[in-house]
Amino acid sequence: MCVFACTCVYVRVRACMCTPTFYWTAALCPRPGALMGGCVSQAPDVASQPRPVYTDVLQLPLRFHFFRSETMGVPLDVDEAWFMLKILPQINTYYKKHGIRWESSGCVELNVAESASEENMAMCAEARAKTNKINRQNAAGNNDIRREVFLKTLVPQYKTHLDTYDVYLFDFIGDGFQGVTWFDTRTVVMGLRSTKGYTSPTRRPDACLAKTAAHELGHALGLGHPKGKTHPDGVSQLFDTRSGRENPDNLMCGGKDSNGGGGTDLLQWQVDIVRKEARNFLDAYGPRPISSA
Ligand SMILES: [Zn+2]
Repeated sequence: MCVFACTCVYVRVRACMCTPTFYWTAALCPRPGALMGGCVSQAPDVASQPRPVYTDVLQLPLRFHFFRSETMGVPLDVDEAWFMLKILPQINTYYKKHGIRWESSGCVELNVAESASEENMAMCAEARAKTNKINRQNAAGNNDIRREVFLKTLVPQYKTHLDTYDVYLFDFIGDGFQGVTWFDTRTVVMGLRSTKGYTSPTRRPDACLAKTAAHELGHALGLGHPKGKTHPDGVSQLFDTRSGRENPDNLMCGGKDSNGGGGTDLLQWQVDIVRKEARNFLDAYGPRPISSA
């Protein structure tokens, strides 16, 4: 707790605000036939140059935490079996070709309703009220509220270690939001329901939740949002040197579930970053046992 409490003051917030007004045009859409819930890994192979083949698979520990409470919790069908069957394999489809494998470190039940003090329950209710009031048009305010609600109040009570990548799953984390990541503590917060692309809070398809988790873990491994950004030499961050053109089908470009939930692929410069970050993590915390899953 001390480590986290000390670092959270300086934490870098990488909010998942993948350009809310950006949606794929028909010409750019990498999956023009994407339907509701079509958030599956199906990156088109348009490259003219081969990808590197990684024989050294970097295995990273991933732990899902299910927040249970009357006000902000997720239902009981969202459990470890759900994670192992519906979420983890799909997350790994995005990383497998880059030589990274996420391995379950088990799931954690955070049953606040049974164990929390009245003070904690009041805090949860206040947090839920704040997230419900979030105005999608006020981006700065949204960041502040999420930082206040999740980083400073709820998650620090449970995040006591830095040797895993942790995803905390709540019912709803704010209007228009799917997830948020705090890079320095390898902490991801996600909502089971979202209003991004929906007219009211709606439970997202499992495949879309898995894609968001993969996207947020990209943030946890050091990636930002490449859309509209350039490298120091002025080249678009979405330029694919293998095909010689921009490729918007990028995992770090988010989107509505009805449009496939964003992109799927990572460019080589992004792969280099995430593999370097993964190696740094393994150097710090040691190799992970190979999972039989
Ligand atoms: Zn994001």
